[in-house]
Amino acid sequence: MTYPDTQLFIDGEWTGTAQIDVINPSTGERIGGLAKASTADLDRALAAAEKGFATWRKTSAFERCAIMRKAAQILRERAEDAGRMMTLEQGKPFAEAKGEAMSAADLIDWFAEEGRRAYGRIIPARIPGVYQLVVKEPVGPVAAFTPWNFPINQAVRKISAALAAGCSIIVKGPEETPASCAELIRAFADAGVPAGVVNLVYGDPAEVSSYLIPHPVIRKMSFTGSTPVGKQLAGLAGQHMKRATMELGGHAPVLVFEDADVTGAVNFMAAFKYRNAGQVCTSPTRFVVQDGVFDPFVSQFVDYAKGVKVGDGMAEGTQMGPLANDRRVTAIETLIKDAVERGGKLLTGGHRIGNHGNFFEPSVLVDVPLDARVMSEEPFGPLAVINRFSTYAEAIEEANRLPFGLSAYAFTRSQLTAQKLAEDVESGMMSINHIGLAFPEVPFGGVKESGYGTEGGADALEPYLVAKYVTQANA
Ligand code: NAD
Repeated sequence: MTYPDTQLFIDGEWTGTAQIDVINPSTGERIGGLAKASTADLDRALAAAEKGFATWRKTSAFERCAIMRKAAQILRERAEDAGRMMTLEQGKPFAEAKGEAMSAADLIDWFAEEGRRAYGRIIPARIPGVYQLVVKEPVGPVAAFTPWNFPINQAVRKISAALAAGCSIIVKGPEETPASCAELIRAFADAGVPAGVVNLVYGDPAEVSSYLIPHPVIRKMSFTGSTPVGKQLAGLAGQHMKRATMELGGHAPVLVFEDADVTGAVNFMAAFKYRNAGQVCTSPTRFVVQDGVFDPFVSQFVDYAKGVKVGDGMAEGTQMGPLANDRRVTAIETLIKDAVERGGKLLTGGHRIGNHGNFFEPSVLVDVPLDARVMSEEPFGPLAVINRFSTYAEAIEEANRLPFGLSAYAFTRSQLTAQKLAEDVESGMMSINHIGLAFPEVPFGGVKESGYGTEGGADALEPYLVAKYVTQANA
């Protein structure tokens, strides 16, 4: 399969010619081009979203559900193609890329059904003959900004919740990984989502967001990306009184207690650490391991890291592809150099692999001082940092030390410790003794500087809905 050029999708039409190069991170070579939205394109997208909203909000939840479920089925049928595009543009192993398209289909199905349950309620009135109703209405056209690490899954959460609620949406997709995201949009279009309801643009991220968010047509925005950019966009949304959902960076702690199944913890966490080359907002990052099991944990983790098969995502048996862009290679190299200069020990990895593409060794640092940059900056790459703790209080202090609070992990056989951890760790998501995140039906979101709002489960529909109060007396 050849990699396609990607166009914009505005008012039901694919439009625009290639202006931005798309690079395969495995080879460093140009594989295709991407259209770039002009201000006139954004205006057309806004007009389309306004028109699309008028149509979609009047489409019954039952019918919206049927169209969305058709989109899910189309995406499943095209998962191989979408997966191949994603591997070529983003680098992740093909099985993971195809899996991303398949799980996106499940998420569409779930939100499609959930939209049918956007119930209001009746509030008992103080006066006989008065009916007091709470009706859930769609908030209006949405602007969504989605990143390159999961080109389909970051977009599908926003699109599915918006569509299920009856909103239209303009997605600014990831410029570095555009074709698989466009395949997602194509599935919705081919399923019969009316023109204007789903629109896709690409361009200069800052130009597009600063144009769309303040625009009067847009009633809500949702962003997935880094905390610094999230703060800027949340500020802009605030200035213009736009609802915002922010799914931002993390720096997930992993607490491993002496009573844990150490081998189980290594197997879960090392596999997750190197998944998508660590470019995952919920990636386990700061391991804190209790003294008594520190050595076996570290040695098993290092063995795992050394065994990870790194290569082109299309090659059979590849477990970890390249980093998605050059910036990440530089960032990881810089963080490792800084940690080692400050006394951290590099037990494996630490280097770029080969002389083309963005391949990097699965890396492990131990005994890293807290003033090293990696102890407070999200590495977003294949780097695990493993430190020690003695007491429960120390573990909690480290877990809560940073301003982030997206996901956290812990391993212990003590039910009491597990219960206390669930209370004491400041995090939007807490997985104990396994990894149980990101299913359509469970909340997905953070606290503190990791953002606000949730993108999974029943709560994820609410930000796209307005609770309108209607009171009526007998005439
Ligand atoms: P970045 O901070 O420049 O960009 C992060 C994302 O935000 C990208 O998708 C980018 O297109 C978008 N973006 C940047 N400026 C924007 C603006 N003004 N308006 C709208 N969108 C904008 O950095 P990057 O090099 O692309 O990514 C590096 C960091 O971003 C990582 O270290 C990680 O912390 C974070 N990130 C997080 C996620 C996530 O899933 N939460 C995904 C991708 C990147």
